[in-house]
Amino acid sequence: MPYQTINPASNKLIKSWPDHSDSQIEQALATADALYHSDWSKGAIQPRLQVLKKMADLIDSRVDELAEAASIEMGKLIEQSRGEVQLCAQIARYYAENAERFLAPTSYPSELGEAWVENHPIGVLVAVEPWNFPFYQLMRVLAPNLAAGNPVMAKHAKNVPHCAVLFESLVKEAGAPDGAWTNIFASNDQVANLIADDRVQGAALTGSERAGSSVAQQAGKYLKKTTLELGGNDVFVVLDDSDLDKAVKAGVGARLSNCGQVCTAAKRFLVHEKVADRFLEKMTEAFKAVKIGDPLDASTTLGPLSSADARDTLDKQVQQAKAKGAKIVLGGAPVPGEGCFYQPTILTGITRDNPAYFEEFFGPVAQIYVVKNDDEVVELANDSHYGLGGSVFTKDIARGKALASRIETGMVYINSATNTSAELPFGGVKRSGYGRELSDLGIKEFVNQKLVVIS
Ligand code: NDP
Repeated sequence: MPYQTINPASNKLIKSWPDHSDSQIEQALATADALYHSDWSKGAIQPRLQVLKKMADLIDSRVDELAEAASIEMGKLIEQSRGEVQLCAQIARYYAENAERFLAPTSYPSELGEAWVENHPIGVLVAVEPWNFPFYQLMRVLAPNLAAGNPVMAKHAKNVPHCAVLFESLVKEAGAPDGAWTNIFASNDQVANLIADDRVQGAALTGSERAGSSVAQQAGKYLKKTTLELGGNDVFVVLDDSDLDKAVKAGVGARLSNCGQVCTAAKRFLVHEKVADRFLEKMTEAFKAVKIGDPLDASTTLGPLSSADARDTLDKQVQQAKAKGAKIVLGGAPVPGEGCFYQPTILTGITRDNPAYFEEFFGPVAQIYVVKNDDEVVELANDSHYGLGGSVFTKDIARGKALASRIETGMVYINSATNTSAELPFGGVKRSGYGRELSDLGIKEFVNQKLVVIS
């Protein structure tokens, strides 16, 4: 598949983008590697932080333009695209203001002498990124690594090339030298070759298990470090003592935001039997009230899926779930006509032998499970290959905290949907991947934490 801008709301091709040749990629790698060996990477941090600060200001001044590009390429509601763009400015500013402190040397009291750990860049990184947050996914890699001094070669998903190019030009306009961030329209083979190259020291990937496994295998073969942020099958737990209206509102948002294409979206709703009927009724009403349409129209509340493939894959999963015994309470089909729209869908009656029980549904499809007690919540939540995020709704915070500590995921939110913010670590366990992005943890993933001891 070529790099193409196709508007998923109309399924019309807007522009094709040429692939980069092997020699273009070699040239880009040589430039990035030279930058790593220069004062830019090895010298003072301030010039790099200035670029991040400028980038935050540039993004803030272009929210509408950037948001529109994202909505056109992958179908996100325009208001949500604006939110994504603003979050990018926050992340850039956060690292501009905090990276120096995060990377400062840390003392280690020791009998062997005066000891400390310094943080140094490690070299060129490869980033492989998905389309669901076409700017935020890039910023999560750029901001910490630009601050740390690691040049990045970024391979974006095939359906968001315009966002990839806009992002690269913002980094340049903010004053970063050539090689600090290079967008490459590369094939998977070209990415594999880059990872094998001695000048590359690590790879960060967000995407599917299939892509993560392939990149991690190649990196493992050549002994390069990776971070992986893969899928999720997050639970959204509604206990009998929760504020039901608050839980329904948050749950609907957590399932339908970005048309359900979020790794940390609420995918499995575990609802206590005492409130299950009322929850289902309220959620069904809310799903029925959704206005499907053009993501650029501010009155639309559910846009298209990102591509025809995404819609068809989701529909196959829903039909298979039904064939294996699930009940479709609402929806369960693509919206007829142009564009990659799918009806908001609610499934119940999913048993453990139904493939839907373990699969991630990347779209507006909610699975509802009725639970009797907190032990059953934990059993169901942890009976998953994934371990990314999760939410627990309860008025009893001690009960919520106890559940949070028993759920095997990288993140748990009590009384809100799983969220993200520059200062909070983001990442998972099990097949949701490993490593953390954002916060002080994210900036330490690809630095040489070098020990120095004076005896
Ligand atoms: P992919 O994982 O295929 O795409 C994500 C990125 O990985 C893209 O840049 C893609 O490139 C690249 N990629 C894929 N295979 C390889 C490979 N072998 N080597 C190097 N790079 C590779 O996601 P899809 O778009 O196909 O979505 C499929 C499913 O993945 C979703 O239904 C969802 O379950 C999950 N997903 C999870 C995301 C998350 O946020 N955690 C985000 C997106 C998807 P290219 O576009 O060229 O294929």
